[in-house]
Amino acid sequence: MAEYTPMIKQYLSIKADYQDAFLFFRLGDFYELFFDDALKASQELEITLTSRDGGKIPMCGVPHHSSPNYIGQLIEKGYKVAICEQVEDPKTAKGVVKRDVVQVITPGTIMEGALLDEKANNFIASVTPLHNSFGIATCDLSTGQNAVKVLQEDWKSVCLELQSLGVKEVIVPKDMNEERVKLLEEVYQFTVSKSIEIDLPDNLHTIMEDLDSNEVQLVGKQLLSYLVRTQKRSLDHLQKFVFIETNAYMKIDPNSKRNLELVETLRQKQKKGSLLWLLDQTVTAMGGRMLKQWIEQPLLDSKSIEERLTIVESFMRQFFNREQIREQLKEVYDLERLAGKVAYGNVNARDLMQLKRSLQNVPSLKDQLLDMDHPGLTDRSHNMNPCEELTNLLDAAVHEDAPISIREGNIIKNGFNNQLDEYRNASVNGKTWIASLEQSEREKTGIRSLKIRFNRVFGYYIEVTKSNLHLIDEQRYERKQTLANAERFITPELKEKEDIILEAEEKSIELEYELFIEVREQVKKFIPQLQALAKQISEIDVLQAFAVVSEEGQYCKPIISNEKVIRIEAGRHPVVEQMMDRQDYVSNDVRMDQNRGLLLITGPNMAGKSTYMRQVALSSILLQIGCFVPADYAELPLFDQIFTRIGAADDLAGGQSTFMVEMMETQYALNHATDRSLLLLDEIGRGTSTYDGMSLAQSIIEYIHEFIGAKTLFSTHYHELTVLEDQLSRLENIHVKAIEEEGKVVFLHKVEDGKADRSYGIHVAELAQLPPKLIERANALLKDFESEKGKNIAHSEEKVKGDNGQLSFFEPSQQTKPQKIIQSDHPVLNQLKELELLSMTPLEAMNTLYNLQMSIKQGKQEEAKWVKSNN
Ligand code: ADP
Repeated sequence: MAEYTPMIKQYLSIKADYQDAFLFFRLGDFYELFFDDALKASQELEITLTSRDGGKIPMCGVPHHSSPNYIGQLIEKGYKVAICEQVEDPKTAKGVVKRDVVQVITPGTIMEGALLDEKANNFIASVTPLHNSFGIATCDLSTGQNAVKVLQEDWKSVCLELQSLGVKEVIVPKDMNEERVKLLEEVYQFTVSKSIEIDLPDNLHTIMEDLDSNEVQLVGKQLLSYLVRTQKRSLDHLQKFVFIETNAYMKIDPNSKRNLELVETLRQKQKKGSLLWLLDQTVTAMGGRMLKQWIEQPLLDSKSIEERLTIVESFMRQFFNREQIREQLKEVYDLERLAGKVAYGNVNARDLMQLKRSLQNVPSLKDQLLDMDHPGLTDRSHNMNPCEELTNLLDAAVHEDAPISIREGNIIKNGFNNQLDEYRNASVNGKTWIASLEQSEREKTGIRSLKIRFNRVFGYYIEVTKSNLHLIDEQRYERKQTLANAERFITPELKEKEDIILEAEEKSIELEYELFIEVREQVKKFIPQLQALAKQISEIDVLQAFAVVSEEGQYCKPIISNEKVIRIEAGRHPVVEQMMDRQDYVSNDVRMDQNRGLLLITGPNMAGKSTYMRQVALSSILLQIGCFVPADYAELPLFDQIFTRIGAADDLAGGQSTFMVEMMETQYALNHATDRSLLLLDEIGRGTSTYDGMSLAQSIIEYIHEFIGAKTLFSTHYHELTVLEDQLSRLENIHVKAIEEEGKVVFLHKVEDGKADRSYGIHVAELAQLPPKLIERANALLKDFESEKGKNIAHSEEKVKGDNGQLSFFEPSQQTKPQKIIQSDHPVLNQLKELELLSMTPLEAMNTLYNLQMSIKQGKQEEAKWVKSNN
């Protein structure tokens, strides 16, 4: 380091601690970046790269005042930025001014600006491997919300869970397996940071006190350590960690969340087209965020569900109250994030005015809720604390139209502080005095155009045009500045007043700043109340949103079935229905009970099988979050879990359309499902060859029927499986109807009992406008295959039902054709079985093997001859 200047040495020693961040190094009015940071930032930000110290050190910089924009750009790209400020007064500093990092801004810790989506939480998460599970702690620094949960899942599911939560940054232990880190960074594109444990301040220990096990506390601590290290401030607004008991909510594993498009669409990953989008009639940003949390955590407790439903019902019945409440909610700003900004010390006077206006709406909101005469709403109304003391303080202290800057005055109201009033009077009186001085000087000199003005450089001055200069009193008038056709003067008495005015103004601005900080400290004391109020208001907002959606969609109030019955009349898929003309949607009934627990759905591609299955799952989720259901009548049990699995051929989204993935996901569902779960299996088994797939599909169905008992909807294009209805007492066939009209398939989207007659695949291909020649050829081939099948149809039923009525999928035993597949009584197999391997020499074994192979090859030749002669 010897060759560097002291300042660069300082830079390098600070940078050493922030290797993974861009170091924004404060130099005067600029933040400068050096070395590799400069090379990289100049590219990312498209700013000019220069150098210093004779071209040895690459450098680039951004002005301090426009830095938020540049920092935002880097954060959006997933980088971190360490802000390094001067931490002593340059005027009094000896040698290089002391500098230090005051905050590290990272994608998961932004507090304001365009990067914060107002209707979504900005989560940072930390993941800690535990015994056979992973602990996940999440924090939204902008709202102060903290939670911990333990997932008994594999690493990929953990990644998917983080993705569906919308996590921006993941903290992992420093010894985390590199493969896992790689998956997080490269496949799921998270910003990943390694944790460094530190001793936490006391206030952060208390926010972990509800986490009862040491193991779970460790998960929270890892996250908090990172926040303390990067944010370098008190973090007063962080709320107590909530331990999310996964058993307290309906479990929807990350794959199913994606498949059901709960918060974003499968392919485009957009909110539009998801259940969240459909339900989002919330008025406040806080309500929007709570809605998302509710969708991800449907309830299991029937009392709480019923309560939500009755509130929604009240909101539907009392339209005018609801509309008034919606109007009031429009005036409520984001209390949670405002509280966060207060704690962070970056709140301005306008934010405080938003806070005041929000609070001023609370009393009338409480009245409206009381007026609705619902016990749940009455309780909620009583529990809301409008923080009157705080409203009064803000009303007395802060100007309605205060500027954004908190350093330029005009923030604090007159009458709030005597000293400030005195300064202001001095300044105002001085200005009045100056206005009258202008008049008296005009009279004294007889110059009618004489003016007294002020500018920042010269202060107050008397301006006289050149033609009038001979009229001034040269004894009193002291020349200050000469212009082209005027001269500017000062007089001793003007100078004296100027000093008084300027001093008063300077002092009043300083005092205003101090008073503002005092007010902000007062507001800080109300953070817990504000956070509680934010929660109460968000809940009301979500429930009124449910009422709006339920009313517009003509949903019905669902009934919770204690008998594990599903009875839906004229049910619809809420999102598909919304995306199309409502009258074009064909509603369908669903009927399942103890004797009808598995529905095998057949029907052509594009008929509506998936839509039908999903509508059952979405209706269940709607019920369990407390919303009405898109149907004329709906009775549903409370499901503990929902699993949705899509056959590999359909799951192209993640680029993971392998059969293995399909099977692993199915394994997961079968392992975790109970008789209180809902299973949707959509074309499972089609990612492999026909017989393989069909055999697997059948055994999966049998397994669910025999060992799990979960309510299951299984769609398949294997028509052969429909015979299972005779074998499995609780399985029934249903199909989605399609008809053929003038050679073209017409989808009726109507679900009926019984099996489908055919699969219409070629018609669908025709609809997709495959070349006519190709379609013609496919039709011809189909005819051939069908006539071939016709020949074998006689034994096709036997094929499925084996001996003693047991189901089996062995290849048909071909009587007329030489055996292609080795049957269990094949002579070669028999010989193999008889071999006494342990008493054979290697040479004998070799010879026997050779002979066996020869006999199979001969068999093949015979088969080839047979094929030739039959063509
Ligand atoms: P499948 O699973 O049988 O291949 P989908 O459920 O994916 O078919 O449905 C295909 C399309 O048909 C949907 O995107 C939707 O536009 C339409 N559709 C499905 N069900 C209905 C319905 N009940 N009423 C109207 N249109 C429907």
